[in-house]
Amino acid sequence: MTKDQLPRGLLSRRRALLAGAAALGAAGSAGLFTTFAGDEPVRRATPAPIAGGPQARPGRKPSAYRLQPLMGYGPPKAAPRRTLVRRAPLLRVPGRGRTMVLTFDDGPDARYTPYILDTLREYDVRAMFFVCGEMVAGNKDLLARMADEGHVVGNHTWSHPLLTRLGRGRIRREMERTCDIIEESYGERPSWFRAPYGAWNRAAFQIGAELGMEPLAWTVDTLDWTSPGTRTIVERVRHGAAPGVVVLSHDAGGDRSQSVRALRTYLPRLLDAGYHLTVPERHYA
Ligand code: ZN
Repeated sequence: MTKDQLPRGLLSRRRALLAGAAALGAAGSAGLFTTFAGDEPVRRATPAPIAGGPQARPGRKPSAYRLQPLMGYGPPKAAPRRTLVRRAPLLRVPGRGRTMVLTFDDGPDARYTPYILDTLREYDVRAMFFVCGEMVAGNKDLLARMADEGHVVGNHTWSHPLLTRLGRGRIRREMERTCDIIEESYGERPSWFRAPYGAWNRAAFQIGAELGMEPLAWTVDTLDWTSPGTRTIVERVRHGAAPGVVVLSHDAGGDRSQSVRALRTYLPRLLDAGYHLTVPERHYA
């Protein structure tokens, strides 16, 4: 091979990849997040279909919600996902109108999560739960309930470590194991992940993308884990409310009764103010 044959070969391969990516981008234009900048498309190996077809979910009862996807249909389960490796997490959700996303981290916890789910159900609102695998282990029924009630479950690692202090192998185990238990209890693998403490690094972005997940941070931190008082949490949400805002709260990791009570106050107020509390569209169409 001469010196200039190699670049030509690589160039045409690169063009073919770009053409493929453009086609996928067009097909995915219904997804909110396809417009975000990124690089290095990653193809995730898709698990083999469960015997009995994609509808077969052992231990899960069918629900009207699950039979009618919230926003558009994803690809067939056998189709590969394409996820970009980002250099920073998403901090807010794009979209029109007064849309906000409520997120609850570190759970599930049987002492608090059911009450948060009750309030969300009372107001017919969907939210996101970034769960830790070790918390899911004893509370799989709560993830099944989240699925039945239309909530989105994201990956918050297995044991909530500081990822920036871990090697790639450990980061991968923390994330992959959590994807597995989410799939087992929620019925599908997560499309979103959030680094504990908001401490992201390149390895976390890369491994997250390989596992088919988008990194989502937050816009407004209620700091509810410091138990600042229910009124303070309510006030922080009220003050931070704006179109596209992602709110961070916690449903585990200590006494979260203030977080539970605050939701009961700020949720109806946000709705009265015309906010549409929802979950982000899947990043692929
Ligand atoms: Zn956390």
